[in-house]
Amino acid sequence: AKDVVRETPVAADAAPAVRISHPERVIFPGDRLTKGDLAAYVERVAPLLLPAAADRPLSLVRCPQGRGKACFFQKHDAGSFGDAVHAIDIAEKEGKREPYLYVRDAAGLLSCVQMGTIEFHGWGSGVGDVERPDRMVFDLDPDEGLDFADVKRAAHDISRHLGDLGLASFAMLSGGKGVHVVVPLTPQAEWPTVKDFADRFSRALAQAEPDRFVATMAKAKRKGRIFIDWLRNQRGSTAVLPYSARARTGAPVAAPVAWRELDDIDSAGRWTIRDADELLKRADSRLLTGWGVADQVLPDR
Ligand code: ATP
Ligand code: MN
Ligand code: MN
Repeated sequence: AKDVVRETPVAADAAPAVRISHPERVIFPGDRLTKGDLAAYVERVAPLLLPAAADRPLSLVRCPQGRGKACFFQKHDAGSFGDAVHAIDIAEKEGKREPYLYVRDAAGLLSCVQMGTIEFHGWGSGVGDVERPDRMVFDLDPDEGLDFADVKRAAHDISRHLGDLGLASFAMLSGGKGVHVVVPLTPQAEWPTVKDFADRFSRALAQAEPDRFVATMAKAKRKGRIFIDWLRNQRGSTAVLPYSARARTGAPVAAPVAWRELDDIDSAGRWTIRDADELLKRADSRLLTGWGVADQVLPDR
């Protein structure tokens, strides 16, 4: 028997409504959260998501049958997402050009949700100049068994070291296990320069404190340590975007936090898609004013 398609219009600011089919479909089993709940979350926090997500090549984690079932990353435009999802041709390694996805507004975000998207990941550069990153990110990946307290301490230390180099940085809970230390950049240097900086910075930390940090991917070396995943900073890599939901138990979201509140937070999944009101209130508060904003370039080596 064919499913009855129940369609709920979701109003988007100054944009045509996006129809969400099967809003009743449970996509976070165990949490009893539905596709409609996710759409409502994305619609409400669109003003927070868009500053980071708009006009940036995206990589979507799509889970059409919900988060327990098969999920996949999609970065190329399939042309099937409707008018609010756009494509930009970007040259790949072999010089071949491929269409990458991007959105400009709430309707674009909701069109992605309609297509089964749970997570929004983004390049570190915008569609206006994909070769010049506007942010660098150090993704702290703790080995299993490490305490969240260790991750928080690492994030603080990394931020301090960046500060010593004249770079302001901001903390974001990944919604998963770790913390991302985000460094806004005025687009100027190109990818190879930014990657090289991130590589050298991370290796220096790992060399200085080999018991705490590792800067190479090899799992074997991670035992009891935090992997400083600087590889997010190469052309074509992505990182989860602020306020994106995560396809994980509890429907957590990636959440910007102030350095001074980080100590009081117990997990990277502190906020979930049920917390739109609180997230909107937080984003408006003094605590998060200026989060992710800094007019700065990499120091000369
Ligand atoms: P956690 O805190 O649990 O580590 P995370 O978002 O940092 O959460 P990672 O596994 O460290 O998760 O991945 C970092 C980033 O790398 C992701 O946010 C995503 O953008 C990218 N990534 C990871 N796996 C893939 C993949 N299979 N395909 C494309 N991009 C990926
Ligand atoms: Mn991570
Ligand atoms: Mn990682």
